[in-house]
Order: sequence, then C-alpha cells, then structure tokens
Amino acid sequence: MVRVYDGGLKSSARAGLQRAGEFFVENGLPAVGATVGGIGGLAVGTVGSAALGNLKVTRMGAAQLALGVTALAAPGAALIGLGLGAALAGVLEGSAHWQRPSFQLDGKVFAQSYRRELEKDGVDLSGTRTLAQAVRRASEVRGAAYVMERAGQVAKDGYRPEDMKAGLDFDRMGPRIVGRDTLGGLEVQRVTDLRKREGTDGYSLFNTILVDAGVNLAQPDARTDFLLGHEASHARHRDCAAALGEAAVLQAVGSPDSLLWAQQELSHAQEYRADQEGYQFARQRGHSPEQILQAAVDLFGNTGSSHHHPAGPKRLERLTQP
Ligand SMILES: [Zn+2]
Repeated sequence: MVRVYDGGLKSSARAGLQRAGEFFVENGLPAVGATVGGIGGLAVGTVGSAALGNLKVTRMGAAQLALGVTALAAPGAALIGLGLGAALAGVLEGSAHWQRPSFQLDGKVFAQSYRRELEKDGVDLSGTRTLAQAVRRASEVRGAAYVMERAGQVAKDGYRPEDMKAGLDFDRMGPRIVGRDTLGGLEVQRVTDLRKREGTDGYSLFNTILVDAGVNLAQPDARTDFLLGHEASHARHRDCAAALGEAAVLQAVGSPDSLLWAQQELSHAQEYRADQEGYQFARQRGHSPEQILQAAVDLFGNTGSSHHHPAGPKRLERLTQP
C-alpha cells in the first residue's frame, strides 16, 4: 500500500499484535524449555531462540537473556515475564506506529505565522488571543476547509527542517536503514521490515523517501517506479509539512469533526496528486500504461478508504481517467 504518515489505528493495532506474537516466538523458547525440561530445556530453548533472533544484540537480546536467567531460577515467573514482555512489545509497536517518524513544529512560531496569514486574508482576529480562538473565529467566518488548507500552507511555506525537532521514531528507524540512494534531490532509504512493521511500502519525509528494504532500486520495475514517483510527489509538495500544520490546528481546538473531515479531503487530494505524478514518473522511466496500472492494482487495488487515503478502487479510477 502506498501510504504516507498513515497507518491508522486499525493497522497500528495489527502491527502491535504481530509484534507481540513475534516477541513471544522469539523469547518464549527458553522459558517454555525450562518449564518443560529444566536446565536442559532452557539450553535448547535459548539456542533456538538465539537462532530465531539471529543473535540480535539489542533490547530484544537483553530481554532474552533476562528471561533465560529467570527461567533457570523460576520457570513460572519466566512465563509470566514472557507474557508481560509480549504485551509490552505489542504496546510499543502500536504506539510507535501511531506516532510515526515525523517532525515537530514549533507551536509558538506556527501560531504567529498562522495568525499573520489569516489576517492577510482579511479574517478579523480582533479579540482573539490564542491559536484555538483564532482557529474558531476563522472556522466561523471562512469554514473548515479554509482553516485546514491555510494551516497546511503556512507550515509548507514556513518550514525549515532545521527549525523542527525530529520525532523520536525517526531516530529509532536509523538502525533499520540498509541502503541510501539518491533520486533527483531526494534521498531514498531502504528500511528493513518497513512493510511488515509500519504496514506501508513507502513513506515520505521532506527530502527523504523511505521504502522497504525488499525494493530493488538497481532494477526498478513499474511497481517500484510508481512507488518512488508517488512518494517523491509527497516530498516535492511538502505534504509532510502540511500535515504538521493541520495537526497543530487540530490539536489547538480538540479535533472537531468538521476540521477532521476537511483534513481528510485535503489528504485524499494529496494522494490523487501523488498517484498522478507517480504514474507520470513511471511513464518517463519507460513503463507502459498497462504495467503501471497493474502496479497500482498490486499496491493498493483492494484497500479500503482511510482518513489519509481514498479507497483503492477510487484511486485506480482516477488513474485511468486523468
Ligand atoms: Zn501517498
């Protein structure tokens, strides 16, 4: 699926469950082994577990060791620890997915720029002081679509990555990057398990595109080029920055439905545009319309509609009738 800063609660929960399951499989063998077969069982389980985890010396490795030692002393306690660990892994994955790698806007700077922009447009902000008050006033006089569109534009115009703090998850993704290439002025990073863990084939962050490590950039097929073109469109139009501005406004006024709907419209429009530009990019790279369409079907043909993405069939329809 071509998803950018999306995932949604549903796939977040799914990723969390999957992660919890993996933790159980990767860490359960020593505890189960010890419970069933004492020290001999523990040894067998630990070796099996290490093999499964490819001897990862990470937090996971530390957890395995702790579980192994606990299993030696008290097999019952190890099983409880295993359950807790699996639950924690699930929760961590769920929250990590929900936050997504992103950047944080400086709220104060944004609020000032936003007010300035509204006033330039002739919105009377007299008597309002906070961002929330300004947003409510603008919603009353210009409507939700205007409020959200301006929020995105202000963040796009004012964005300088150096003014933003990278979100925690952006750092966390670092060790999973297995390759860096350039595409135009953009950097393409191949990330281990992007599809499996984030539930997405591609991801766009300002001047960086993240794709799954399985993507072959040396010999790009229609699917890869469509994906790259799609994500490059998001990067070029700074859709990532727009989302930050929209989020700031939503946060200020507690995400009322009217603004959420307006945001969904904007997000869907960005996706249609990214699909169009992805299609053009793939055409330029020599793929036939039929190949590209098939790639689009493979990528998102039967996905449902989400807050960030229109339903797959609708996207395909738009692609075939530009
Ligand atoms: Zn997209």
